[in-house]
Amino acid sequence: MRIDIATLFPEMCEAVLSESILGRARKNNCLTVNCHNIRDYTLDKHNRVDDMPYGGGRGMVMQADPIYRCYQAIEAQVGVVPHRIYLSPKGSVLTQARACELAAMPHIFLLCGHYEGVDERVLEEIIDEEISIGDYVLTGGELPALVLVDTVARMLPGVLPETCCFEEESHFHGLLEYPQYTRPAVWHDKKVPEVLLSGHHQNVEDWRFAQSLMVTREKRPDLYMDYLNKK
Ligand code: SAM
Repeated sequence: MRIDIATLFPEMCEAVLSESILGRARKNNCLTVNCHNIRDYTLDKHNRVDDMPYGGGRGMVMQADPIYRCYQAIEAQVGVVPHRIYLSPKGSVLTQARACELAAMPHIFLLCGHYEGVDERVLEEIIDEEISIGDYVLTGGELPALVLVDTVARMLPGVLPETCCFEEESHFHGLLEYPQYTRPAVWHDKKVPEVLLSGHHQNVEDWRFAQSLMVTREKRPDLYMDYLNKK
């Protein structure tokens, strides 16, 4: 899978994308991520990429043309139209289910806004979908883009040791995960549940499923109701 990120702060993205599981996935060619500096595509002699909003008001708006030119360069390089996403607080909120669908796509383009946002006309021209990472506002689209890349990347073949690493986690099947424990078996007088020490795989599985149901009902009754309705 290939992901191209158009941003004013490519170093910010690179810093995260070079570390840990994502960094390894890129080195092992499980995933290609390119960060493009939108400023490299401005024709303004002072390298400007933003201007004041028409109609007045505070803050600056990212101009359409450098973004358009940046996107055109990527499309010309690849030769096909990628799925084009603008990270935006106005978008549909990212879910595990949508991340799964995105992980099946061969090429994604991510546009990160900044300041007051982006000239609407370039969104009309090149964007297929707006995605939000939650109902709150951040200073820029870089963190949301990295959140999206992270959640998509961990479902790509070869990134995690086995598919069960993400299939058995919270949200994949609509429930939250059961509680996890590790050594020591007793800590601060608290014991690890007996069944987990039993070595009886079926009993462990049954306990985990029951715990998943309970945790979801307690912590996210909305998800629990959705799960029951789909059953
Ligand atoms: N004026 C915009 C509004 O009220 O909808 C907010 C602009 S925000 C300060 C700057 C940029 O951060 C946005 O263009 C977007 O790319 C990104 N951003 C902020 N919050 C986001 C969120 N919850 N999800 C995805 N992107 C977000």
